[in-house]
Amino acid sequence: MNELGGIVAVMVGVAVEGPYSYRVPQGMCVRRGSIVAVPLGARLTLGVVWGEPKDAVSHNRLRDIAHLYDVPPLSEELLGLVDWVARYTIAPPGMVVRSVLRSTEALDPPRPVVAFRATGHEPEKLTPARLRVLDTLNDGSAWPKAALIGATGVSASVIEGLERVGAVERLEMKPPPVVLPPDPEAMAPKLSAEQQAALGHITAIDPHSFGVALLDGVTGSGKTEVFFEAVADTLRAGRQALVLLPEIALTNTFIDRFTRRFGARPAEWHSDMTPAQRAKVWRGVLEGTVRAVVGARSALFLPFRELGLIVLDEEHDGAYKQADGLNYHARDMAVVRARNARARVVLSSATPSVETRNNANLGRYAHVLLTSRFAEAAMPDVKAIDMRTDGPDKGQWISPVLAREVFTAMDRGEQALLFLNRRGYAPLTLCRSCGHQYQCPDCSVWMVEHRFRGVLMCHHCGHEVRTPMVCAQCGDADSLVAVGPGIERIAEEAAERFPDARRVILSSDMGNHAQLRERFSEIERGEYDLIIGTQLVSKGHHFEKLSVVGVLDADLGLAHGDPRASEKTFQILTQVAGRAGRASRHGKAFLQTYHPDHPVMQAMVTGDRESFYRHELMAREAGGLPPYGRLAALIVSANEHQIAMGYAKSLLSVAPMAEGVRLFGPADAPIAQIRGRHRVRLLARSGKDFDLSGYVRFWLSQGEKLTGNLKVQVDIDPMSF
Ligand code: ADP
Ligand code: ZN
Repeated sequence: MNELGGIVAVMVGVAVEGPYSYRVPQGMCVRRGSIVAVPLGARLTLGVVWGEPKDAVSHNRLRDIAHLYDVPPLSEELLGLVDWVARYTIAPPGMVVRSVLRSTEALDPPRPVVAFRATGHEPEKLTPARLRVLDTLNDGSAWPKAALIGATGVSASVIEGLERVGAVERLEMKPPPVVLPPDPEAMAPKLSAEQQAALGHITAIDPHSFGVALLDGVTGSGKTEVFFEAVADTLRAGRQALVLLPEIALTNTFIDRFTRRFGARPAEWHSDMTPAQRAKVWRGVLEGTVRAVVGARSALFLPFRELGLIVLDEEHDGAYKQADGLNYHARDMAVVRARNARARVVLSSATPSVETRNNANLGRYAHVLLTSRFAEAAMPDVKAIDMRTDGPDKGQWISPVLAREVFTAMDRGEQALLFLNRRGYAPLTLCRSCGHQYQCPDCSVWMVEHRFRGVLMCHHCGHEVRTPMVCAQCGDADSLVAVGPGIERIAEEAAERFPDARRVILSSDMGNHAQLRERFSEIERGEYDLIIGTQLVSKGHHFEKLSVVGVLDADLGLAHGDPRASEKTFQILTQVAGRAGRASRHGKAFLQTYHPDHPVMQAMVTGDRESFYRHELMAREAGGLPPYGRLAALIVSANEHQIAMGYAKSLLSVAPMAEGVRLFGPADAPIAQIRGRHRVRLLARSGKDFDLSGYVRFWLSQGEKLTGNLKVQVDIDPMSF
């Protein structure tokens, strides 16, 4: 990249639509991608040099760049990613730049330390002070200046004198690399034939070119082992590797596993880190000393220089979609970034998203299959329990069949898991006298009772009240009832029915990350017989003694009018059933359902994944839904419903005509009120080759100016619709 002079355009890290012009002071040497501080209003702000200014600007009104940071310029590939994300998600480019420059502490350059070393050349004049210095240095080591002065008690001028006569030499000690590089040869596993073949398909993609592989393998088949070898292959080719995980905070086991395989901890990137830790990683990635990163989705914005591989573990996971601020999906962004960086992508899952499966079917992605579990572990048997005929007694949630299986597992010294994907004690508190239902005052959802903590809580805004003793509406005492089960209620029933079991509840309300990690280790050590948990237990963990899994309400996710409901339910049921029998014990999973004939339950029981994907893709095609069409959601919100609805209607009236675009709404959003803001939704649907982002951007520019507290949020490719 050429040196730029005179006037340059700088994209500042604030939500602005385009770069601003600044003057380059004499003697400063900037290029496209250089990271600088520039005055903006009364402050200095971080920015990235974008290039030549587009328009002629008058010299005398311009301000100077205040500071050029001592780090390599950002790569062309990363700058291209910023442009793409801004255009696709309809976000101001400055906001995307802010995501890239997240770790500003990294920009305080670690200062090299001045040190001295003996040259072996004897000075003619030897004073006692000079002798002390040379004695100290006589083993050939280099001493930082301050340490040398401290050790010898001489003044700086003595050392400088020795330097002048050539008896010692000055060197600069660079700070050491912050992370030990991973070693691809450290502890390679012996892959099974099937795993070796899978790896071969991935490494067949040239390490210096773009390509995507779907690593589609049943739980426990060794997907992690295989993509670790893809990481090793990338490191050997001299390129950097990024592994993304959905639930980074709870992945000690993953980090340990990586460390064992590569003989060094990977650099981590997630929200639990201190600013100083982030700073080191950010800078190390930019300078190339960090070779492998394990992180959450925001790691996609790290300034890699030689990115050769991006792995998305559990690629179907909803946590990859960021929903506030920048609305991007990490999977799409990974593919875009890899294309620009000429890197490989591995999407790994036992239950790939319908979109990814479609791309594999069409041959856009290599479809790499692992069909059996590693070693002697077999897939669990899945059975449906028909709750219409075989349900439990009134007031209970655990059916007799499931209870029997739990006892059997315990008798054999194995573990059982009772799974319900709902936090708290009960989703609804109702007054039997007057019918009053406890709702959040600011959101249109019920307050969930958390008995353990003695509160009712809104799961959207976090609003809490103490659990009431009398009805807030009619004042009756003893008339309030808890309706429906949450995980705490299941734990209460389990305590009555399995009093001798060593039990543990796992949900995000049950402690901080460190405490939850401790619970997981206890389970792995076999300190519990019965695990009662939410989605938290469904991912990634490997409990060797677990042989029976009971899903208390397999229909839970199907109730919503969301066209992705089947896919999401299939994914979570497969994940949780897959916890059973991961080692040599044979596993069984039981699904309590009122709809045993539903295609999802059928696919689970018969193990016929292919028919599920076929069925689901057909339904999507018929509805013109992704991956056969594109969707964008516009959420108009305001403090008053009427204002939000009024604006949405006016927006609809100025919608540009375009062939193949259909608009729906305005209607109340699925959650019509959040934190006191009323939300109205417009949906746009188009064919899959249409530039829907461009259409929505133009549409919004036609709308009236937003006034008061009106807000419009755009979500391209919304996850629920
Ligand atoms: P997945 O990611 O598909 O769920 P894992 O990679 O976690 O599967 O593998 C499941 C278990 O089998 C792990 O304990 C893993 O260490 C073990 N395993 C898989 N493949 C191998 C192998 N080639 N050599 C040794 N152990 C393996
Ligand atoms: Zn609320």
